[in-house]
Amino acid sequence: MARTADAVIIGAGIIGAASAFEMAKKGYKTLSIDKNPAAGYGPTSGSCAIIRVHYSTLEGTAFAYEGYFYWREWAEYLAAEDERGLAQFKETGCLVMCTAQNDFLRSHIANCDALNIPYELWDADRITQQMPIYDLKSFWPPKRLDDDGFGEAGGERVKSGVFFPTAGYVNDPQLSTHNLQRAAEAHGAEFLFKQRVSEILKEGGRVSGVRLADGSEIHAPVVINVAGPASAKINALAGVLEDMTITTRALRQEVVHVPSPAGFDFEKQGLVVSDSDISCYCRPEGGNHILVGSEDPECDPKDWVDDEDYDREFTDQWTTQAYRYAQRVPELGIPSRKRGVVDLYDVTEDWIPIYDRSALDGFYMAIGTSGNQFKNAPIAGKLMTALIDYCEAGNDQDSTPLAFRLPFIDRDIDTGFYSRKREINQESSFSVLG
Ligand SMILES: Cc1cc2nc3c(=O)[nH]c(=O)nc-3n(C[C@H](O)[C@H](O)[C@H](O)COP(=O)(O)OP(=O)(O)OC[C@H]3O[C@@H](n4cnc5c(N)ncnc54)[C@H](O)[C@@H]3O)c2cc1C
Repeated sequence: MARTADAVIIGAGIIGAASAFEMAKKGYKTLSIDKNPAAGYGPTSGSCAIIRVHYSTLEGTAFAYEGYFYWREWAEYLAAEDERGLAQFKETGCLVMCTAQNDFLRSHIANCDALNIPYELWDADRITQQMPIYDLKSFWPPKRLDDDGFGEAGGERVKSGVFFPTAGYVNDPQLSTHNLQRAAEAHGAEFLFKQRVSEILKEGGRVSGVRLADGSEIHAPVVINVAGPASAKINALAGVLEDMTITTRALRQEVVHVPSPAGFDFEKQGLVVSDSDISCYCRPEGGNHILVGSEDPECDPKDWVDDEDYDREFTDQWTTQAYRYAQRVPELGIPSRKRGVVDLYDVTEDWIPIYDRSALDGFYMAIGTSGNQFKNAPIAGKLMTALIDYCEAGNDQDSTPLAFRLPFIDRDIDTGFYSRKREINQESSFSVLG
């Protein structure tokens, strides 16, 4: 006898686990399947887990602001025990440098004004007061380390920034996924680990379940692809790639961890900073370290890879990012032993995710999260649940997309924004910033 479920969720990362939690609360008997040994052991565990509200589109901003409230109210949202304790949201705020490259944040400020998102305008003195280790010389455009002009400041300086107080980071992204697993299990959800989905089953023109690598079958009228960087492979198994105008690919990323300079406690006094002048973002990291990620400048080649066959060692990309950040923090010590993370984004053409149905009835996808959707996991789980309810009730998501209410900020968004069949969104930053 094959095992059965109301919905099979492929992938137990943060969005997969949040989808299980939200669907289980609505009465679906979900079964999450992951080839890893525990929840959140894929790219979620390598996530920088930054929670921020500044996005280039109004819809992206609204979704992220809604997402913030679930982290702020994490224990209330879960309403469940976890024997490992709860992940913590460190609400440091986020400073974004105003530069010509981001048009001095004009559209971001307009989005925040439209959504009543709080922010403060900081001049150079205020920035230096908060971050005395910062030198505000301008280094634009970003260069590779072997470029002769690397580290040479131009005549300009960064003169201002926008501080968003409703931002920070989650200290343990894997634990937060485990929290969601336990909360989902409290509503009857089940999780199956160390099992690989190898086939999508179909019957009568719709999905009917999955086959696992050990040959066993699980029968379900709904299957959801939340497989992160393996999303395109799962879509290929389901045969649903043809009608998609937006596709997904695995992109390799390196994240740098370096110690804070002597005399400054970055872990306690630091905050999230997005700095397009040096094409780096950063946040505090445990042990008084600074985490430095890349904002994907054009001079860096994109490392598109196979999700299971890629170089997991640091390369000169690590060194380039560390030295780019040292332009801003001249006292930064860069250890010879490289520390940090090598992991994968699942990226779409416009760096905006796909939350949608597919050409195969009953088969859905929450993919293409492009390095920027950890923060949105709880609301993405709610959106997927509502979208599945809507489609399974016979509505045509492609012609009449669901209007979805964001409960905290009390605003509707058009879920067609996340369609697999959309035009490439030209308002995007075309980077991890979304
Ligand atoms: C380096 C890095 C930094 C990031 N920083 C941020 C940030 O600061 N803020 C932010 O909001 N977002 C960030 N992100 C993005 C965020 O982490 C992702 O959007 C999020 O973790 C994706 O979660 P997911 O549920 O899609 O699953 P993933 O974590 O992508 O996991 C997918 C799961 O699917 C499983 N799977 C795949 N194929 C199969 C199969 N055939 N059978 C069974 N299981 C399968 C895998 O084992 C894996 O566990 C970052 C991502 C990375 C990589």
